[in-house]
Amino acid sequence: MPRMLYADVIVDISIENLDRTYQYKIPPEMETKVKVGTPVVIPFGKGNRKINGYVVGVTENPKYDKSRLKNIEDVPDKAISATQVLISLACWMKEYYGSTMNDAIKTTMPVRRKIKEMTHKRVVLKADDESAKELYVNLCGKKNAAARVRLLRELIQTKQLDYEYVRKNLNISNATLKSLSEQGIIYIESTRLYRTPFTDAGLPDKEIALNVEQKKAVEAITAGYYTHTYKPFLLHGVTGSGKTEVYMSVIEKVIADNRQVIMLIPEIALTYQTMQRFYRRFKDRVSILNSKMSAGERYDQYERIRKGETDIVIGPRSALFVPFDKIGLIIIDEEHEDSYKSEMPPKYHAREVAEQLARLHNAVLLMGSATPSVDTYYRTRPDYPGEDKVTRYELTERTGSAFLPDVKIIDMREEIKKKNYSMLSVPLYNKILERLDRKEQVMLFINRRGYTGFVSCRNCGESIKCPNCDISLTIHHTKSKDKMVCHLCGYETDTVVRCPKCSSSYIGGFGVGTQKVEEMVRNTFPQAKVLRMDADTTSGKGGHEKILTAFANREADILIGTQMIVKGHDFPFVTLVGILAADMTLHISDFRASEKTFELLVQAAGRAGRGSLKGEVIVQTYKPEHYAIVCAEAQDYKAFYEQEIAYRKIMKYPPVSNMMTLFISSDSEKLSADIMNVSFNTANDIIRTRKDTVLVGPAPHPVFKANNMYRYLLHIKSNNIIILKGIRRAVENAVEKGFLGYKYVMQFDMQ
Ligand code: ADP
Ligand code: ZN
Ligand code: ZN
Repeated sequence: MPRMLYADVIVDISIENLDRTYQYKIPPEMETKVKVGTPVVIPFGKGNRKINGYVVGVTENPKYDKSRLKNIEDVPDKAISATQVLISLACWMKEYYGSTMNDAIKTTMPVRRKIKEMTHKRVVLKADDESAKELYVNLCGKKNAAARVRLLRELIQTKQLDYEYVRKNLNISNATLKSLSEQGIIYIESTRLYRTPFTDAGLPDKEIALNVEQKKAVEAITAGYYTHTYKPFLLHGVTGSGKTEVYMSVIEKVIADNRQVIMLIPEIALTYQTMQRFYRRFKDRVSILNSKMSAGERYDQYERIRKGETDIVIGPRSALFVPFDKIGLIIIDEEHEDSYKSEMPPKYHAREVAEQLARLHNAVLLMGSATPSVDTYYRTRPDYPGEDKVTRYELTERTGSAFLPDVKIIDMREEIKKKNYSMLSVPLYNKILERLDRKEQVMLFINRRGYTGFVSCRNCGESIKCPNCDISLTIHHTKSKDKMVCHLCGYETDTVVRCPKCSSSYIGGFGVGTQKVEEMVRNTFPQAKVLRMDADTTSGKGGHEKILTAFANREADILIGTQMIVKGHDFPFVTLVGILAADMTLHISDFRASEKTFELLVQAAGRAGRGSLKGEVIVQTYKPEHYAIVCAEAQDYKAFYEQEIAYRKIMKYPPVSNMMTLFISSDSEKLSADIMNVSFNTANDIIRTRKDTVLVGPAPHPVFKANNMYRYLLHIKSNNIIILKGIRRAVENAVEKGFLGYKYVMQFDMQ
């Protein structure tokens, strides 16, 4: 018997439960046309009503009795639509990330609530002058005509009036307006207003002649684009080397060829300056999306995109899902950024999704970074084995007069030996003083907000922990009083004056939090004006923008901040960047800890000396011998990469091998442990005979108890991603069967 294929079809993408699909037979003559994402016409229900649907899966093994399945009626011959691509993308995400169809489609095609349109309505005189005057004269003095007289008197003079004015000030009812327009005396005109957040696109664009390296990159990427096949590129260049100019040149070529462009930028880096650059070059052909926009603003941008009024969309990771039907280029700026990874199911990585989207559109994928992710760089090496090799171009110099800064490492252990217990080493202190004298600016950078701002007792060494989570509370100073807060679950309590354990009064907050650094800096340099930027000072619309603008306008001498200050603005007067406790991220329990540390140090250094003044960077550390720190000092990405990839090879970590993490959590310690046991045994049975796959763990999560949930992890490493997917399915089945009716969370995460 010939092979028969069956299609899973969803019939309505707006309904709640998208995991509900219907199965149909694919007639042999349609086989080549029906793929995931294809729109089809199907007979539906008892009356075999013809309705439209989308194929979300194709299989040889139907779930139902074959004889009772109906045939797909038709495959409309239409050009590929945006919806079709977004459905295929959702199907791919479901498969790749192991999410539900529901979550996947809700991500790629979120229901965009219609917001009241902002329209400008006017009442316009339609009748000619003479008939209007005639009517006016006739109406004057008549009973019940006062309103019409009022309106006509004004309309005859001005020809048109603001609708609101007519309704409120002239007090004309809707009924009156309706009857007048039915008589052909007036009409109501509404013009749609788009809530465009920026309006200074009129400013002239800067003329820039690309340098040799930029030209080479633009030419190669453009040539790649004209092949109209999927082509991935990496643009590796330090901050300020002119990557954005390269992006803009390639964008010009692509939109001139009538195709569309999506450019992802981490939200934090999407500054006013960047937006202006794009508006100036591309005028109103650009749409910019960000999460701080009002729902109305966002809706309007989507409307413009849907109507084809823009060719270029710039935004955070969700900008991938705009309804474009002919994408030619997807750019991911700062491709190493963590914010490209979604924390909500399906926990997708925008880089992976962008790659898939570019494949679906036969488009170019252009990734750019000063510190490319090890994952991406690995794929650019000449010996890379896969077929998904990435072509790399480098920009090695900063443009114009800007130089790379000098980076100096300070060993904080030496400072302690010299009895300096301050957060500031002597060299950093001296250099800050120098800058203040010269009226130059300083940025002080702390790795993670409040991470070590914990409260501990110097007598017994105990720290005060969150009762829900297994982590230390952090001191927060507010205007009214100080509080201790849990950064994981938000638990809050008053500060204490005595240790709850030993009653000693030698208790307090130690370590470095942004607030503490600010306090110390203000005390040490009373002459300086200081700004602080972290999640606490930047909540609300435009919060970080305000602080950065103030600093860019030199309203302060010193800016203190977390990761956030690493991105964004050019500060030509910043000549010193100080990194306090550079090694803090080296202690996080993640195989990417070194990569993250190196990246932060280089990105922070990139902030110094962006103008014509030479910049200097001071890195304070307790681990000066660590290669992440040594290579950051030399600003040597390749040296770092070589050491890092060697470590990943030995440890079988990505990108050399695949790694999947299973996360189990529930409110019972025993239940979590039991589920983890079943998972482990199931996985172990599968890999028993395989040399290419290993299990690591199970282990308690680094924060074992959070929000009153007990959490376990199991890592599975394999050269073979198919095996990992098989393990995922088997574990899911076993746990679903074994723990029916229990409440728990189970998640798989591709690392
Ligand atoms: P990146 O994106 O790598 O940080 P940009 O493209 O923002 O770099 O360039 C940094 C600065 O240098 C910008 O002000 C830009 O206008 C300018 N610039 C870029 N390329 C050139 C060039 N070829 N000649 C002169 N100035 C340039
Ligand atoms: Zn104590
Ligand atoms: Zn907590």
